[in-house]
Amino acid sequence: MVEEAGTRIHVDPGPGALVRAIQAGIDPENIDAFVLTHRHLDHSADINTLIEAKTMGGWNPGGKVFAPEDALSGEDPVIYRYHRKNLDEVRVISEESSFNMGSIKLKCAMKHQHHGVETYGLIFENESWRLAYITDGKYQEEMLKAYEGSDAVIINTTFRKPRELDHMSLEDAVTLLKGIKPRLGIIYHFGMEILRMGLVKAAQYVEENSGVKTIPAKEFTAVSFESGFRVEKIKLKNPLGFSPYWK
Ligand SMILES: [Zn+2]
Ligand SMILES: [Zn+2]
Repeated sequence: MVEEAGTRIHVDPGPGALVRAIQAGIDPENIDAFVLTHRHLDHSADINTLIEAKTMGGWNPGGKVFAPEDALSGEDPVIYRYHRKNLDEVRVISEESSFNMGSIKLKCAMKHQHHGVETYGLIFENESWRLAYITDGKYQEEMLKAYEGSDAVIINTTFRKPRELDHMSLEDAVTLLKGIKPRLGIIYHFGMEILRMGLVKAAQYVEENSGVKTIPAKEFTAVSFESGFRVEKIKLKNPLGFSPYWK
């Protein structure tokens, strides 16, 4: 979730995203837009659930969705056509797309190579900060240019060492952070190798080898850009994940 001056953009709502939002005290009705970087299940499983919650089952239409073409059309779209009539806008994203949402500008930075699925990395920015979300995909040297000038960079880091698969590794994260030189690196999207290694240890490895402060994106981690990129733990409003209406 990217939030700035009352505008909320939910990115890649994977399994459990609705429950996690409620635990954190985020009312889905107050989310303005949903973005999918690509159609894989771990990035889209809760998109329909969240649209249903946002629009109160269609009784309160509104909100926007930005997603690649193959998430919306073809034989197996991941966003139900049934829901789309309840949204203000459904936009197909492609390379060079950019959208304004409140004070946030959202740009598709580049197309990633990722198992033949249409996949786009994103840049969020306003006057005082720039955040890159380098989503799933194989490391490509063009990434250094596409995401340059970012203050904070989220890198989907699945493996410890590079493999011939369309995902990045801790070593790729080091290369990206050394090249982009942000103030903060955030590693995310861990495979079993990294989970067994330990997230803190993995982030330490990246930090020591890149020279860039790096944290793992654990659940309920927040970064406040206004407070000098301070890393905070979100205080849960509904720890059990029950709806606040169930009293
Ligand atoms: Zn994927
Ligand atoms: Zn993924």
